[in-house]
Amino acid sequence: MGGASINTGTIPSKTLREAVLRSTRSGCTDRLSASNLAQRIEEVASNEVRVFESQFRRNNIDVLIGTASFSGPHTIRVANQEEEYFCHADHILIATGSRPAHNDAIPVDDVSIIDTDAIRRLRTEHHVLTIVGGGVIGIEYACIAAALDIQVTLIERRPRILDFVDQQIVEALSYHMRSQGVTFRLGEEVEEVTKSSEGKVCAKLKSGKQIWSDALLYAVGRQANTDSLNLAACELAADARGRIQVNTNFQTSQPHIYAAGDVIGFPSLSSVAMEQGRVAVCHAFGVQVVSVPELFPYGIYSIPEISFVGKTEEQLTEAGVSYEIGIAHYREIARGQILNDTTGLLKILFHRETRQLLGVHIVGDGATELIHIGQAVIGFEGTIDSLINTVFNYPTLAECYKVAALNGLSRINYSGPRPVKMRTCASLRPSTSKSLPSD
Ligand SMILES: Cc1cc2nc3c(=O)[nH]c(=O)nc-3n(C[C@H](O)[C@H](O)[C@H](O)COP(=O)(O)OP(=O)(O)OC[C@H]3O[C@@H](n4cnc5c(N)ncnc54)[C@H](O)[C@@H]3O)c2cc1C
Repeated sequence: MGGASINTGTIPSKTLREAVLRSTRSGCTDRLSASNLAQRIEEVASNEVRVFESQFRRNNIDVLIGTASFSGPHTIRVANQEEEYFCHADHILIATGSRPAHNDAIPVDDVSIIDTDAIRRLRTEHHVLTIVGGGVIGIEYACIAAALDIQVTLIERRPRILDFVDQQIVEALSYHMRSQGVTFRLGEEVEEVTKSSEGKVCAKLKSGKQIWSDALLYAVGRQANTDSLNLAACELAADARGRIQVNTNFQTSQPHIYAAGDVIGFPSLSSVAMEQGRVAVCHAFGVQVVSVPELFPYGIYSIPEISFVGKTEEQLTEAGVSYEIGIAHYREIARGQILNDTTGLLKILFHRETRQLLGVHIVGDGATELIHIGQAVIGFEGTIDSLINTVFNYPTLAECYKVAALNGLSRINYSGPRPVKMRTCASLRPSTSKSLPSD
């Protein structure tokens, strides 16, 4: 139980990241053996599964272990090696998730050419790693590997990484990753991957470059798990990547069959998958539900981490909205200095006239937690004034909101450069008067 979220994706990658960050910050990297990391991942994952099992029991949810497939529009066959069951249901929710997509040119062998499911078999003795795919997962693993002092080359077909993220935030991340030793090969495509007799991996690029490494991680795309579902039995079909189409209630073309999570594609996040499942089930049972997709936050656990909610500058520009920005750099916040995070920044976007908060974009320590303040303010249609008038604990990173709002305010109040006052030498001499200069 637990799917990609607990067993191969979210929880293992975040546990690994946390373990690596803690060890590197405390200077105890010698305890970071592959088996210690794998054990820590196992501990967290099995505890999570236990929590789910107990919640299922408390809520009277039966669990059948086996592979499910449709044997009719209302009937599911569940089979394992010993038994088979048939379940009849009024409503059915397909939440079968996804697995790493593979490519014939990249022969994954689970030893030195691995996909993202093989994270538990990551070996810390690999010193040079090639990552193919500059999406969220590729970036996250590139940062973890770089923190482990592994030399990383990241290959991405597009000219920039994370093109759905605010440009300024991506620039801050790229700067940090480069300073950690990550080499970006952007606008490059892998033609073929081969192994030498000594076990070294060579990625041949279409541009003619060869990139050699101890291991290669293939992190390009996901394939939805629909091939074993026998969708034809309920007159449903999937696209080439296995995805099922749904409407805003998450109903498929068969109104009593719903689908949610990775099986329907973007954004393929645990957080969103849970919400889609909730909306689908509420709809099936006639429960009124309010869900606001525009307010879903995005979290990218790179090092430093990234999070954003609401509109991007690109979206506001395209929509012709008169907006202004406000920026707080972590280095001007006491907590940022304490944490020694000098590259972090929080950027707010707000309407120039109504001063309503429209978007928040953060890169730096704690970004994925901090974002929820902005999410709440946007959700309640708050303005930058509510941030300016709020007292935040000191010293905290949350203070960034107030500093960014003040920065934004100074931008909308800006009315051209201040006139430079010419002073005589005499006026600069220490005054005998006790009164302060008027300016
Ligand atoms: C490396 C990595 C890191 C990630 N990090 C994050 C993150 O930080 N934050 C975040 O929000 N998301 C993250 N994600 C994405 C997240 O893991 C997925 O979006 C989420 O797991 C999707 O949930 P799901 O329920 O749709 O599918 P899954 O979690 O994949 O669950 C589907 C389950 O259905 C089972 N199944 C499939 N077919 C059948 C069948 N025929 N019969 C019976 N059972 C079947 C599968 O075995 C699996 O257990 C990450 C993913 C990866 C790969």
